Amino acid sequence: MSIPGAGHIAPAMQQFRPEQLFITVEKNGSRQFTKTGQPTRFGKYAEIRTRDHEFHFNLNGQIRFIRGLGSDWPHPFESLKHTDGNDWVYYSVGAAIQQQGIRDWLGEYYLPCFAYQSNAIVKFTPYFHPTVSSAFGAWAQLYANIRTMPMDGLPSETRAFLNRVAENDDSALHTRAKDLHTIIGGQMSVLPPDTRHVDYDVIPINISAGCLYHCKFCCVKSSKRFQPRSMGNILEQIRNLKDFYGRNLKNYNSLFLGNHDALGVDADLVCFAASEAFRAFDIEHANVSYPRLFMFGSVDSFLKAGDTLFDNLDQLPFFAHT
Ligand code: SF4
Repeated sequence: MSIPGAGHIAPAMQQFRPEQLFITVEKNGSRQFTKTGQPTRFGKYAEIRTRDHEFHFNLNGQIRFIRGLGSDWPHPFESLKHTDGNDWVYYSVGAAIQQQGIRDWLGEYYLPCFAYQSNAIVKFTPYFHPTVSSAFGAWAQLYANIRTMPMDGLPSETRAFLNRVAENDDSALHTRAKDLHTIIGGQMSVLPPDTRHVDYDVIPINISAGCLYHCKFCCVKSSKRFQPRSMGNILEQIRNLKDFYGRNLKNYNSLFLGNHDALGVDADLVCFAASEAFRAFDIEHANVSYPRLFMFGSVDSFLKAGDTLFDNLDQLPFFAHT
């Protein structure tokens, strides 16, 4: 449903709403992850448009994307994405970094630019671009407007959505990221590059900790000794993750079994974690089809795994990337 918000607001309160809001409580994105050269959203989401920006929210009312609509925005196909780990990632089409043929260069339409130094693919900091940095101000302003605007007269679904947004301020998003790290036992320092096929939207479950190698060059490694997690620990993570994702769980169809060398655990444990998560998260009925499973695997783990693991992976309802 799309409604022009200003028509529902008492004139006396318009001082809180310098811009007209266009609210769409439920939008249907693509039901399959596809690569396109234009902004594409996946699963279901909500949208608020102001004169200058487009804001997308997940089903929990948490901010997901911001895109500038003015001619000063670096490129109409670029946007800021907010992650479950409370990071912002700028999706660049490459124009500002003189990579006009980013598709030829990377095989992808977008280059994710992180707001932090580690894991950077190229040194490009769009966050200093005045229009991009002002988008964060626009989000803060929108949030303040939502918190103070009168809800009387708005349809109940719209009110419920705006209340969900109001519950998810920066502090709530920060706390939420900490909760995620507590559930899985630490921060994910790196995702498999193949997760780009699902726009990096994976549910992380740690089935092991530590690295076999502790390679000297590596800036993401764990200092821990390699150790599989117990079945009980994995089930607890799955239970807590289900609560953590809440309404937005329906938008996930993919898992990342971590951490740096999940292929090193017993074949049964990999299949146990994947099957239990598939059932508990009801991935069969997710808003996005074609479930995928991602894992890192070292050379030793790969050689040790033998055919059993790969035969078992073939039986799972996921397309597996290792
Ligand atoms: S195994 Fe991977 S994550 Fe671990 S130290 Fe080596 S490169 Fe880094």
